[in-house]
Amino acid sequence: MQDTKFNLDIFNHPEYDYKIFWTISDFCNFNCPYCYMDKSPPAQFITKSYSPEFIAECFNNTGINWLIMLAGGEPFLMPKFLELSRELTKNHHLQISTNLTPDTVFKFPDYVSPKRVMVISASLHVPQRKKVDPEFEKFIEKCLFLQQKGYRVVVNYVTWPPLLGRMEDDFAYLKKSGIQNMTAFTFLGTYNGKQYPESYTEDQIQLISKLAMYRREEDILRCNTKYKGIPCEAGHKYFTTDIDGNVYKCRSDMVKHGNLFDGSFKPASKDRKCRADYCIDTYMAEYILNPKEKKPFNWSSIIPKKK
Ligand code: SF4
Repeated sequence: MQDTKFNLDIFNHPEYDYKIFWTISDFCNFNCPYCYMDKSPPAQFITKSYSPEFIAECFNNTGINWLIMLAGGEPFLMPKFLELSRELTKNHHLQISTNLTPDTVFKFPDYVSPKRVMVISASLHVPQRKKVDPEFEKFIEKCLFLQQKGYRVVVNYVTWPPLLGRMEDDFAYLKKSGIQNMTAFTFLGTYNGKQYPESYTEDQIQLISKLAMYRREEDILRCNTKYKGIPCEAGHKYFTTDIDGNVYKCRSDMVKHGNLFDGSFKPASKDRKCRADYCIDTYMAEYILNPKEKKPFNWSSIIPKKK
């Protein structure tokens, strides 16, 4: 198991009590075999409808200091993404998930201080990356550039079954190249007629857990992300948002909380018990559950013991 203290540090930050996961765009230059995003409709970009200044003002008007977790699509391919990042980070913090292909990444430090970025999740999508960057040199160059500029970079490696045989070698190669943080990211979906994570073998679970930085990874691998009945921040201090700014409690329980851009966003006044059968927001779960104590929940109290 890799160092999980990293994860605790970045989520339990005193400057951002409220977190929002925002699927900012549906456009991506990669076409990964395991991607769940529907890329058939024309690409939508929020920055074509609203200016970066207006979007930031909408977040400011909530009166909340946000950690805004941006995912896509590929955010760096969105028009005015750098300007949007600059405006948002005047009052808030960002997490960004990116495949690090666009060269605008090199301009990012001109727009945003590393102090305002919780983490840059650099996704190494091996099947697509190999086609354009066979030795991952361009990917590594951008990771090292961002690291040297002071950003926290974590390489995410999707555990698609055909990659399991090379994963450890790839991790060793990245580490030797100077990359400080990397983690295995569980593949959810179908491969060769089998459903994952249900079909991972015990050996594969052990391998992935060993390479994972987040302690919840093993719960995902073992399909143990059921938190029904446990108090959760979702809907109170954690939210998920679509491209158009519609805010929902979480991705497993889509209770609407208004819209950020028309000013109708309204959080619940307190935490409520989880009522979903399965938590998709598991990477945040350790921190959105049991928030008052601000320490990891005692999972062993609810997860059945292995036989
Ligand atoms: S599904 Fe996950 S994020 Fe949603 S309420 Fe339950 S524990 Fe919280």
